[in-house]
Amino acid sequence: MKKVNNIYCVGRNYAAHAKELQNEVPTFPMLFSKPTHALVKAAAGKEVLLPSNRGSIHFETEIVLMIGKPYEKGIKVDEIVESMAVGIDFTLRDVQSELKKKGQPWLLAKGFPNSALVSSFIPFPGSEEVKEIDFSLLKNQEKVQQGNIKNMIFDLQTIIDFTALNFGLGEGDLIFTGTPEGVGPVMDKDHLTLLWGNSVLGECFIKLY
Ligand code: MG
Repeated sequence: MKKVNNIYCVGRNYAAHAKELQNEVPTFPMLFSKPTHALVKAAAGKEVLLPSNRGSIHFETEIVLMIGKPYEKGIKVDEIVESMAVGIDFTLRDVQSELKKKGQPWLLAKGFPNSALVSSFIPFPGSEEVKEIDFSLLKNQEKVQQGNIKNMIFDLQTIIDFTALNFGLGEGDLIFTGTPEGVGPVMDKDHLTLLWGNSVLGECFIKLY
C-alpha cells in the first residue's frame, strides 16, 4: 500500500443505513475525516487493537478508494482512482450518539487508532464494473453485511468532485465511501473477513484493550 495522505469518509451514503440509525437521508455528501494514525491493514492472524472502555464499537463495511493522481476539474472516476479495498470504518457508537446530541464533531467516535481498517488493495475495475460485484463482511464466518455501490445515494463521481472541491484531493488520499445497512458491534476475539465477491481481500481478529 502506498503512503496515505488523507483519509476521507462519507457518512449516510446508503438510504437503508441512514434509516437503521434513524438519521435523515442527506441532500449533499456528508464528509468527515480520520487521522492517518487510524489506518490499519487487515492480515491473516493479525490482532487489531480497539478500546474496551468506551462503549460499543460498530463495524461499518465500506468500499475504499485509493486516489492515484492529483484531481483536475472534469477528471473521471476511472482516471483518478488507482485501486480499491474493502474496509471498515470502526465507530464508537455510544460516543457518537452523545456527540450527535451535543452537536459536536464526530472525531472522538471515528478517529481513534485502528478505526480505519483496510484490506489488500486491488486494481480499480472501473466505476461501472465495480457495481457487478457485492462486498461483504463475515464475523466469525457468518455474513453480517453485504452491499453494492450501485445503492449509494451519492455516486463515486459526485463524492470525488465534492471532496476535491471542498478539501482537495490528490495521490495517496483514501475515501471510505459509506456503509450499507447491517452495522453492528464487534467483541473481543471476533474474527473478521473482508470479501469482494467470493474473494477474501483481508481478515483479522479483534483484540479489545
Ligand atoms: Mg461509515
